[in-house]
Amino acid sequence: LNRRLAEFGTTIFAEMSALALSTGSINLGQGFPDTDGPEEVREAAVRALRDGRGNQYPPGPGVPELRGGVAAHQQRRYGLEFDPDTEVLVTAGATEAIAASLLALLEPGDEVIALEPYYDSYAACIAMAGGRRVPVTLRPHEGAFRLDLDELRDAVTDRTRLLLVNTPHNPTGTVLTREELAAIAALAVERDLLVITDEVYEHLVFDGAEHVPLATFPGMRERTVTIGSAGKTFSFTGWKVGWVTAAPGLVTAVRSAKQFLTYVASGPFQYAAAEALALPDTYFTAFREDMQAKRDLLAAGLREAGFTVYDTAGTYFITTDIRPLGETDGFAFCRALPERAGVVAIPNAVFYDHREAGAPFVRFAFCKRTSVLDEAVRRLKSLA
Ligand code: PMP
Ligand code: GLN
Repeated sequence: LNRRLAEFGTTIFAEMSALALSTGSINLGQGFPDTDGPEEVREAAVRALRDGRGNQYPPGPGVPELRGGVAAHQQRRYGLEFDPDTEVLVTAGATEAIAASLLALLEPGDEVIALEPYYDSYAACIAMAGGRRVPVTLRPHEGAFRLDLDELRDAVTDRTRLLLVNTPHNPTGTVLTREELAAIAALAVERDLLVITDEVYEHLVFDGAEHVPLATFPGMRERTVTIGSAGKTFSFTGWKVGWVTAAPGLVTAVRSAKQFLTYVASGPFQYAAAEALALPDTYFTAFREDMQAKRDLLAAGLREAGFTVYDTAGTYFITTDIRPLGETDGFAFCRALPERAGVVAIPNAVFYDHREAGAPFVRFAFCKRTSVLDEAVRRLKSLA
């Protein structure tokens, strides 16, 4: 393994999902739903397969039906106009969109500012692209993890090439407010930075919170690469269909990298994702409400079990503090948890450069059936 990747080892998700299997534990680690998305979307994939749509290489930028569907979705929900032919790119999940964007837009030595804790592929992809990551740490404030805008401003240097933003935020569940996003946008314009914004949890915002795409702010449309995921939005994480929307020059750049990573993303699932994007608003509302109820259930259970629970305004995840349980090291806690309680969780420290800043935090996924969450809570209460 080369020096760029040596520090990354095996992803925590593979490690912890393997541990869940080998110990027969409930897996609240890796974020994937344990119930598939809508039946009609699954049927759309079957139909595409059977009709021979996408069984051979689809077009490199993605099938027109899906590019059109993505553009229509951005227009309908956010009033953002994108040309499906020049401003939309289909990728093999959001993961490839992140990799291709960083590989396409960074010069070796460029600095990338990312919100810490950050999703693990960000660090690895910045490294593969030869960039330097500059973390800005979200810190607990009044019960939730918040961004310090002064710290963000101070992190920008003459070598900063881009801001890598994620809202709703994995693993903290923070949803950046309109005011915070406006400040980020103003900074990007003032310092002439590119922005990659990972909005894969755009539909999972709770308690009436609002997801506002960064691309909607003044001066942002031309400098922002926005990333979405059908896996997350329609609960088919195994399909690996994602997308990028951006100005033509940026899409062309990202496509240049993408064509040598996978060339194209999976065919039949693109047609199914296109149909999914056309689902009525009732689907998106029910999806959000269902996930919010799961969040409430797990948050209450974790509190009863003795954890400090931070507010989750969006995503699949709850971040907890284990210190009230007399624990300080999230890694040790998560490695022992399957034996102690038959539950798997993720130590947030893996998402930090400043590992000590993340040490006491542990992430639990709530995108699971109610019966599974109930049983997990029952087990976790035995810790106290
Ligand atoms: N970004 C974030 C913040 C995520 O949580 C995930 C998936 N866990 C991804 C990107 C990757 O999405 P996909 O499965 O579409 O590759
Ligand atoms: N995004 C999911 C998570 O954060 C899992 C992604 C993965 O397995 N790479 O848990």
